[in-house]
Amino acid sequence: MRRSDVVLDEAYFDRIFSEFRQVLASLGKVLPAVSLVAVQKQDPFSVLISTVISLRTKDDVTLNASRRLLAEAPDPRAMLQLSEDRIADLIFPAGFYRRKAMQIRQISEILVSEYDGKVPSDAGLLMQLPGVGIKTANLTLNLGFGIDAICVDCHVHQISNRLGWIETKTPEDSEKALQPVMPRRFWIPLNELLVSYGQEVCTSVSPKCSMCPENRSCPKVGVTRSR
Ligand code: SF4
Repeated sequence: MRRSDVVLDEAYFDRIFSEFRQVLASLGKVLPAVSLVAVQKQDPFSVLISTVISLRTKDDVTLNASRRLLAEAPDPRAMLQLSEDRIADLIFPAGFYRRKAMQIRQISEILVSEYDGKVPSDAGLLMQLPGVGIKTANLTLNLGFGIDAICVDCHVHQISNRLGWIETKTPEDSEKALQPVMPRRFWIPLNELLVSYGQEVCTSVSPKCSMCPENRSCPKVGVTRSR
């Protein structure tokens, strides 16, 4: 059941976002890797490729792998000049780097043959690309095109449930459940904020509640052990 002891309005989310950002700033936490790529490159292809690389891969590995690959192949046509082995070498040691190299090449082929080398700004079309699920599609829309979409990964799903904003079992359900709960202007920054917060404070196992400004009011749904 969604919590009823607080009003989940703009003022509430403003406060939470501000509190969490302050904690992360005090820890010296920088933007997640895909966001850094988005800020530096500012184009949907870079965001899409960086997000594919980021799946099951640590942030610093994602950032370095993305920079190496995109320096050699900044667009789909340039990517097709690289062999699958070369792409794999450039993104190593990202998780599943061989499979991702194959997907990145296939994605580039489709973008060139069907979209004139451009990334489509539509979640349905993006999800037809190899290796692209709802999370990658929404992050590409968010950071590549500035289109409002709630991008839910395991951190966003878990923290939203712990705080009692929603009650869901899967990230897919969370995306739908968050839409009526959260004012639109928070949709894009939500992922970036909660991914970082989930990595540093509200960790999957034993969250560091003692350093969280919400410690006293958070219902901590599903938390069995905390620090
Ligand atoms: S109080 Fe604990 S469970 Fe709640 S948001 Fe903070 S770190 Fe997460």
